[in-house]
Amino acid sequence: MKKQRLLAIFSIVFLSLSIVIVPGNAQGPTDLSALTIKLWPEYDDPRLLVIIDGKLVTPGSEIRLPLPAEAQLNAVATDDGSGRLLKNEWREEKADDGSRLLVMVPQNPLFRVEYYTPFSVDGDKRNITFELPAGYFNAEQAAIEVLLPPGSEDVKLVPTADESGPAQDQAHIFQRTLGAVKDQAITQQVTYANPGGELTVSAESSSSVGAPQGTEASSQEPTGAETVAKSATNPWIIALGAAAVLLILGGAVGLWLTRDREEEAPAAPAPSRTKGKKKKKTGAISMQPSPKDLDRFCRQCGKEFGPDDRFCRYCGAQRRSL
Ligand SMILES: [Zn+2]
Repeated sequence: MKKQRLLAIFSIVFLSLSIVIVPGNAQGPTDLSALTIKLWPEYDDPRLLVIIDGKLVTPGSEIRLPLPAEAQLNAVATDDGSGRLLKNEWREEKADDGSRLLVMVPQNPLFRVEYYTPFSVDGDKRNITFELPAGYFNAEQAAIEVLLPPGSEDVKLVPTADESGPAQDQAHIFQRTLGAVKDQAITQQVTYANPGGELTVSAESSSSVGAPQGTEASSQEPTGAETVAKSATNPWIIALGAAAVLLILGGAVGLWLTRDREEEAPAAPAPSRTKGKKKKKTGAISMQPSPKDLDRFCRQCGKEFGPDDRFCRYCGAQRRSL
């Protein structure tokens, strides 16, 4: 009798555990100790740049993040605590209603997803409605940060921000602290006017970043290398790529110029390639823009800046000159 009872108890416990664990892992909201949603319209692109920063309560948890239909991913990364973003594997799934879902298991507790998405523009007027539906995250502390371009006027946030600053360089930064969020939708509406149509980061300096992004929109296959290449926040990749292109072009021109000399011609391509690999690093360093000797790392949180960043993508602090 006792054995049977024990067996019954065990099987009930086992069954209930399996019921709780299996669907829970697959679809329940992921527990985060912190969640920050940054809405940066017209930052370095006419679209809205959305930056989702989270910290897992349980390392190794899977996160599922709904993506707007037209979202173009810019970075999917984790941070090992050093302030450097490392690419993270991810995949895309379709939710039951057919909407897009990014699925990833962050390799480190800190993770980041960045994407660009279009928003409503009517003449000078801008209208952003951001919604993160319920069912995906529980956060002990959640916050929203809005960074608007310098020329923005008639700014209205619904719900309102609890902190705002006319900020440095006339860019406008707003912060809203949500506190604990338990499996509930997070919404934020932002309306403003931008008569000049200026971006927060000048189009000139970001045009080199913007160009390759267009071609990446079509690539659906999430591979690690692509994810890094997509990252506009990774100046090294862009600088290295640019350096490599310059070296290849230079090599090609040099080869073409020395074509007549038969002896040198066959030897030229091989050394130019190996040289290219060696030179990449120095090339990248010399290409690092330092017109004003800007800080490389954020003074507030210590994270590394991208070449065009005027504000920290982690904490929103202004980048200063050395
Ligand atoms: Zn910072």
